[in-house]
Amino acid sequence: MLRALFTLCLLGHFSFAQTIQQCKYRFDNYLNFRGSLNNRVQFQNDVIYILDDKGKKEIAIYANEIELFARFLINNPFSKQEQLIKFKGVKKLSKAKCDSISDKITDKKNKNKYENKLPLSGYRIAIDPGHTAVTLTEALIEQKFLYFRKDSINHPYDTIKIFESSLAFNTAQLLQKMLEEQGAKVLLSRSKENYNSFNCTYSQWVTNHKTRILDSLKNAKVLPVIKYNKFIKQNEHDLFWDFFRDFELTNRAKVMNEFYPHLSVVIHYNVDEKNEPWKQITKKNFTMAFIGGAFTGDNLDKYENKVHFLRLLLTDQLNQSEKLAALTVTNFNKNLEIPIASQFDATYLKDNCLFTGSPGVFSRNLNLCRSVNSPLVYGESLYQDNERECEALMKMDITYKDLNTNDRLLSVAKSYYDAVFKFIKK
Ligand SMILES: [Zn+2]
Repeated sequence: MLRALFTLCLLGHFSFAQTIQQCKYRFDNYLNFRGSLNNRVQFQNDVIYILDDKGKKEIAIYANEIELFARFLINNPFSKQEQLIKFKGVKKLSKAKCDSISDKITDKKNKNKYENKLPLSGYRIAIDPGHTAVTLTEALIEQKFLYFRKDSINHPYDTIKIFESSLAFNTAQLLQKMLEEQGAKVLLSRSKENYNSFNCTYSQWVTNHKTRILDSLKNAKVLPVIKYNKFIKQNEHDLFWDFFRDFELTNRAKVMNEFYPHLSVVIHYNVDEKNEPWKQITKKNFTMAFIGGAFTGDNLDKYENKVHFLRLLLTDQLNQSEKLAALTVTNFNKNLEIPIASQFDATYLKDNCLFTGSPGVFSRNLNLCRSVNSPLVYGESLYQDNERECEALMKMDITYKDLNTNDRLLSVAKSYYDAVFKFIKK
């Protein structure tokens, strides 16, 4: 008992100065997908090594450098993070060098104490409404929509037509209003329900920006000529999946990170995976949320991912994300009356995710879970193709502060809001 108390005190004391043991905890509980990083990360008494795919030590972080790196990674743009880690390599930094790096860090996430008029004043919250398509033409490319005739005796002509982008955008706007009313500054990663983070639709991007962007990536040698030649000739569908999807997600993270959010909410709506190709209703409905982690060995081959991995390892963002996501899932379960998913309720949960220990919260190495630089919840509140949800989601029969919506989307927004509020106030 005494020992437990002593450990608790130590953990409390070191909540900012992260220790090797705390990093090891995150490695074991969130990051190391079924031991697949055992050959890529080595923990010793006073140092953590990141190894390349040949087993050669590539990066070393010493115990006394952890806090400095955690602060630096949280408070700097990606390009500077990458620069410092490349400069660092395996050498141990001198006290003077550590001090000079430390002096140059501006703590962007310190809350301005003078902004305290409302409960959330001084907090910045980034919201990403997932996806972008709200027309059938674009949705056929993106594949995030439901369109089928409901096979029911009572409603023989009911057509279900739902775009996930619309649901997510509507929820984001509701949540934005709730948070701003309490004084928070809120950023949405895209400004319209049919826009992506480049402030246009995908078709507009193809027409107006594709050639210029591909040319500039080729000229900067970021895009090999062979890939350039392939992308420049591709039809919209193939270009979306081979290039644009990841390119745009990376931009979403960039837009969110430039805002230096204290926390981020990524909004998605799920479907029953067994119901593919989603041309009928399902009886199933589960609620869940994702946070970062679950890296595999080959995920660390790209240098970019090593930088994200180090941030997730050295800072306490994953611990915080688990708390925020757990609060969110509890609210989904209570407010929407949907059961919480266990690891056995979907193949992707069993095959690609690590269970965090908090019901319904899983580590998953999705682009945004990895690259958004703040505690985050990536929510999958409900199954859109559920027999009751699909009808309820089609309605736009209530108004919340000038926004047309329905009671399901409002409950989802309220669930996020209460989770964010409780998380910040704790
Ligand atoms: Zn989605």
